[in-house]
Amino acid sequence: MSLDGAYDRDNIFAKIVRGEMPAARIFEDYDTLAFMDVFPQSRGHTLVIHKAAPARNLMEIDPQALNSVMATVQRVTRAVRAALKPEGIMVAQFNGAAAGQTVYHLHFHVIPRWDGVPLGRHGEGGMADPAELAKLAKQIAAAVQ
Ligand code: 5GP
Repeated sequence: MSLDGAYDRDNIFAKIVRGEMPAARIFEDYDTLAFMDVFPQSRGHTLVIHKAAPARNLMEIDPQALNSVMATVQRVTRAVRAALKPEGIMVAQFNGAAAGQTVYHLHFHVIPRWDGVPLGRHGEGGMADPAELAKLAKQIAAAVQ
């Protein structure tokens, strides 16, 4: 499944929204959810999604729903900065397998960066320690305004 195809209501992020899969949750409002990436490319790598929009990628989401997601992306990016004091923050989003997309529920990556610390390879890093992710999630959540 890549740029074309039907939205799968049983994708991993839809399961996280429904509480059928665990995740280190950071922030949630009526429309959106932010949680830790379990294969982080840097310490504090966070994902932001819309909870209900059946969109696999940027092109499929209703603009109003996209506004809600982007407001949460900004809010969480500010919180990541305040909590982890990175020297830079990368915000990324992939559409289709050729671009690197592996989960077909629209999501934005918020990836804090530090000088001299190389970016982990997308989708190829090891799984993070759940206790460490829970700790980071708590730290970032405490900085959400
Ligand atoms: P994509 O490759 O589609 O842009 O990003 C999918 C992201 O989801 C990857 O960074 C990957 O590490 C992350 N991911 C994959 N499976 C899970 C999971 O079960 N839980 C969490 N929290 N993240 C996941």
